[in-house]
Amino acid sequence: MASLVETRGLTAFYGDFQAVFGVDIRLEVGETIAVIGANGAGKSTLMRSLAGVIANSAEMVLHRGEPIGALGAPDVVRRGIALVPEGRRLFPSLTVEENLLIGSYGRQVVAGPWTLESIYALFPILKERRRNPATALSGGQQQMVAIGRALMSNPDVLLCDELNLGLAPVVIKDIYAAFAKIKASGAAIIIVEQDIVQALKVADRIYCMMEGRITLTGRPSELDRADIHAAYFGAG
Ligand code: ATP
Repeated sequence: MASLVETRGLTAFYGDFQAVFGVDIRLEVGETIAVIGANGAGKSTLMRSLAGVIANSAEMVLHRGEPIGALGAPDVVRRGIALVPEGRRLFPSLTVEENLLIGSYGRQVVAGPWTLESIYALFPILKERRRNPATALSGGQQQMVAIGRALMSNPDVLLCDELNLGLAPVVIKDIYAAFAKIKASGAAIIIVEQDIVQALKVADRIYCMMEGRITLTGRPSELDRADIHAAYFGAG
């Protein structure tokens, strides 16, 4: 049976600059995978390619066995793949609730577990702050809005790019606690994570990237710390 999401020899460019070189990953139904790697390894580029923000050759990205690599972001969202982008990218002048509602526009009439109510149950502070402009929120609360906005499309694949950036450890803990519930709702998840320990804790499988290539993959229980270190930072 086809994987939920798969890349085959994925390459990605910014103009003439090649950022991703022949990457093969797969995500199965119900799985959480983590993509780890240092700054500039190509993790965000991989996520943008999966989300249709960067267009690729159609056959380089498959969703349930169908080629989607050439689709743009709106079509990818409609298929059930939603991105929580690095840096959150909220609409600053809109309220929390308006930002959340924007997430549901991309994928009209898709029934699923995620509604304003269930997102407020997941992140109760957002209900309290629902009439505030997004910019009035703390960084952690803004990250919750960004996750909620992506969930509002009831995705079967949730892509999360560096949720931790600039957040305090206690906030990171709250956000990761929500992941168990998101997973239980049926969504498969890909997280980009620079923190190896966090990635090993949350993921069923890990992919490590360096300089645009996958340098290591496996289940946390199978991976040796020294091998991860070498795959992440390079030898020597
Ligand atoms: P980070 O943790 O810093 O986000 P990353 O692993 O997500 O790192 P990418 O952002 O995917 O890495 O970047 C991969 C390579 O592509 C880097 O060399 C980066 O400088 C380059 N790059 C990323 N975005 C652009 C862009 N918009 N234009 C040109 N080059 C880019």
